[in-house]
Amino acid sequence: MIERAQQILAEVFGYESFRPPQDAVVEALLAGQDSLVIMPTGGGKSLCYQLPSLVREGTGVVISPLIALMQDQVNALSQLGIRAGCLNSSIPLEQLQATEAQLVAGELDMVYIAPERLLQPRSLALFQRARLSLFAIDEAHCVSQWGHDFRPEYMQLNRLRELFPGVPRIALTATADARTRQEIIDRLELTDAARFIRGFDRPNIRYRIGQKDRGREQLLRFLRDEHAQDVGIVYCLSRKRVEDTAAWLSERGFNALPYHAGLSPELRQHHLHRFLTEESIIMVATIAFGMGIDKPNVRFVAHLDLPKSVEAYYQETGRAGRDGEPADAWMVYGLQDVIFLRQMLEGSQADEVHKQVERQKLEAMLGLCEITSCRRQALLAYFGEPDHQPCGNCDTCLEPVPVWDGTEASRKALSAVFRCGQMYGVNYIIDVLLGESSDKSRQRGHEQLSTWGIGKELDRNQWRSVFRQLVARGYLKVEASHGALQLSESCRALLRGEETLELRRDLRTKTAGPKLSGGKSKASQQQLDAEDHALWNELKALRKRLADEQDVPPYVIFH
Ligand code: ADP
Ligand code: MG
Repeated sequence: MIERAQQILAEVFGYESFRPPQDAVVEALLAGQDSLVIMPTGGGKSLCYQLPSLVREGTGVVISPLIALMQDQVNALSQLGIRAGCLNSSIPLEQLQATEAQLVAGELDMVYIAPERLLQPRSLALFQRARLSLFAIDEAHCVSQWGHDFRPEYMQLNRLRELFPGVPRIALTATADARTRQEIIDRLELTDAARFIRGFDRPNIRYRIGQKDRGREQLLRFLRDEHAQDVGIVYCLSRKRVEDTAAWLSERGFNALPYHAGLSPELRQHHLHRFLTEESIIMVATIAFGMGIDKPNVRFVAHLDLPKSVEAYYQETGRAGRDGEPADAWMVYGLQDVIFLRQMLEGSQADEVHKQVERQKLEAMLGLCEITSCRRQALLAYFGEPDHQPCGNCDTCLEPVPVWDGTEASRKALSAVFRCGQMYGVNYIIDVLLGESSDKSRQRGHEQLSTWGIGKELDRNQWRSVFRQLVARGYLKVEASHGALQLSESCRALLRGEETLELRRDLRTKTAGPKLSGGKSKASQQQLDAEDHALWNELKALRKRLADEQDVPPYVIFH
């Protein structure tokens, strides 16, 4: 049968050869074995179930959470002469009925369906009347409660094993951390499944993470210098920032479109279609835009806000360079991102167990940002591949990060937080370190403190960098409601002088925007504070709205 598969590969799909481990997966399915496939985005997972669906007798059922993309996939398959259909709520009734009739009559090679629809008793009865070749559970990480794509109905897919004995199941995902992998195996009852795991390296992607300093201006420079005519994706945290950034880029001559879950389905579909078909286009999006996006020539993925986990970062950046040509994963992040993410996390409705997991994930993400050695090495080590050499194709390899002994500065920073009663946010603490008087400092009597003005050797930006790194490394916590900085247990050794601390020296990117240095520019600092404040309010509203949204479980904080 594998010869038949080779033939179909060439004649129907037009590919010369399998990409490992596609051949092994196909063989396992042809032998009727359950399989778990973990391959990076763009690795070629679809073929792993499409081909066996054609070789085996009966219809291959593809379970996918991506209703918006199903029709595209079906169209693409139809163009290859494959008889495919899809069943979901966006399909007109007559067409649904026609597809169902074809399914039962054995006239379909493949059918795509959303999990909630498949699990309806009516559908299950229908599928039991049909002859099935396999079940493919795509984006299987949606079964994971800990992940950002959790879909409760995925949890019930274990029923397929009992309801359809003898129909092999294949689960596929690009998410590779060990916990998620185990969850997929447990929840989908795949204990006996053959496992296929392909390396996670995407050597053509160049990783860069810089310090945010007027993020949009930095983005503009990056685009103008390196990607003026290219296809790319810009990720932002909130819907409003998506809208604003898309409009802002459009005003500057870029073909930029917004995409987020708040747009009408029609508009989303329209923008998606334009993205997939046009040659010079930028999608500015929240994480609602992503799973399953298959456009080979995406030349860059830019993050204007910090993703909340390494998995999310890897998946999002993985949408770049699927054609194997050089591509950029570019990100800027700053202290405020860290504070916001921490606050969002602590202030969410999630229970303590979930919060703990989210905290660890955020910490790992911050670790990747602050690392001074090869980013790719760190990224791959996180996914269980510890043996890679420095890559020579990320910012830290190309431009080694200068470090400085930040022990003394950190001690001053921590002391100032402590002396002020652990009740103030970072901007005020920096005022204290710089000895900048204000009504607040006079009223509180802070100008009498021993820490008043002890930090004049650094400027405001440098202090922000120190605080960012202290928060990122867990020496300081951010209190949930007002963003007050507080000491954590781990800073004792540092304060006692038993530990030294090496910090990154931030290479400040020069931007067209005004520079905020020396603490002298009070006006621009006020502007920055106002922006922070506005964003924070927006995030609060966002969180509230998310709690009301049905497709997002309460502990998923961002969408
Ligand atoms: P994934 O689902 O793993 O993210 P896809 O299945 O969407 O990836 O495949 C990514 C790209 O790789 C697609 O453009 C597909 O046509 C291409 N591809 C898959 N398998 C092969 C192969 N054996 N030879 C050449 N191209 C392939
Ligand atoms: Mg896929």
